[in-house]
Amino acid sequence: MSSRSLPQGLPRRIATLSVHTSPLHQPGTGDAGGMNVYIVEVSKRLAKAGIEIEVFTRTTGGDLPPRAELAPGVTVRHISAGPYEGLAKEDLPAQLCAFTHGVLGIEAARPPGHYDLLASHYWLSGQVGWLAKDRWGVPLVHTAHTLAKVKNLQLAEGDRAEPMGRVVGEEQVVEQSDRLVANTPTEARELIDLYHAPLERVAVVAPGVDLERFRPGDRLAARARLGLPPHAKIVAFVGRIQPLKAPDVLIRALAELRDPDAIALVVGGPSGSGLDRPTSLIELADSLGVRDRVRFLPPQAGDRLADVYRAADLVAVPSHNESFGLVALEAQACGTPVVAAAVGGLVTAVRDEVSGVLVDGHAAADWARVLDRLLAEPGRRDELALGAVKHAYDFSWDHTTARLLDVYREAMTEHRSRRQLELAGCARW
Ligand code: UDP
Repeated sequence: MSSRSLPQGLPRRIATLSVHTSPLHQPGTGDAGGMNVYIVEVSKRLAKAGIEIEVFTRTTGGDLPPRAELAPGVTVRHISAGPYEGLAKEDLPAQLCAFTHGVLGIEAARPPGHYDLLASHYWLSGQVGWLAKDRWGVPLVHTAHTLAKVKNLQLAEGDRAEPMGRVVGEEQVVEQSDRLVANTPTEARELIDLYHAPLERVAVVAPGVDLERFRPGDRLAARARLGLPPHAKIVAFVGRIQPLKAPDVLIRALAELRDPDAIALVVGGPSGSGLDRPTSLIELADSLGVRDRVRFLPPQAGDRLADVYRAADLVAVPSHNESFGLVALEAQACGTPVVAAAVGGLVTAVRDEVSGVLVDGHAAADWARVLDRLLAEPGRRDELALGAVKHAYDFSWDHTTARLLDVYREAMTEHRSRRQLELAGCARW
């Protein structure tokens, strides 16, 4: 569909802001995770619907071109702001002025009114969007992905509290956004109760899952492709390795499992405060005497990631908090039941005792009890596997995109009416 045939009221061009991580990065390590997947999947579909997408992200390498095509109709624009490498996420606020300058410069070189809407992801981008929205006279639709106040309420041992600067920065973005996109009703509540977001500006839009890539497949073949033993019971953890995601809970539970041959498969790379001690999981496995039963794989992409989910008897998501938990959905789409902590978005992503099991708290003994029960009962696992596939089918990136289009249309209509009223007020004055 070309932008000329777009239904009325929809944006023709969207400036998407993703300051701290690029949609071109491999998720599962460093700062790249579910937000990157979200931006890629949604941008591709918006472009297919006829909307031009430009994603602005910080340049993190001297060899990156100023612009790169992510997919037809989706351009990534690299903005120079601070050193290419070695800049921690905590130091990015100091580069927001440079980043905003780069974004505004690109828009200024275009005919007036080039972008119709700003979509910002994570609070750093929201800050840039706040200024750009005022300059361009367009609505700002913000997705937080994680919230500092929520994270600080559920801090993992060894994790750093989010600083006051971020808390205040998020409050400002909440106040300035025309619409706030929440992944789940739980996140919507958090925005309203903790950040005082006006109810009418919060829209719940569930993220999706790529059902073509993540689908059930032969477990033994997947294990053979990954070099995993065909008969051992395998519980997988997939994601960025940091205290918030609590992969240590799986290692501790492994040490308490009745099956002495069960294996924990840990897939992903260090991230956040996990970067301070990248070998901590290995040290933990050593100290518990289970090092030979823990397999590590670096971040996996595409079909190999689907194979990881298929190869596992269970996927564990023991996070202290998740705004949604895409990994849980992807595992279920592959027909693998998920054992997840009963926190945040995981309560939506997993249907307790239907597509997996939700566990209260992070005590290794509780996790070992649930894992033991499921690993000993193949019939129950099969039932949950069926429930998992069915549940995952309730989510898709097409649905997410369709809902977002509604949100964009509302934001544009409301923004236009407000501006007309403002103009009328000025004229009377
Ligand atoms: N991921 C990946 N390769 C890996 C590990 C993770 O591509 O080795 C992707 C995974 O498919 C998922 C995302 O990273 O889509 C993680 O999203 P999630 O919502 O689970 O966690 P987040 O990173 O947003 O905290």
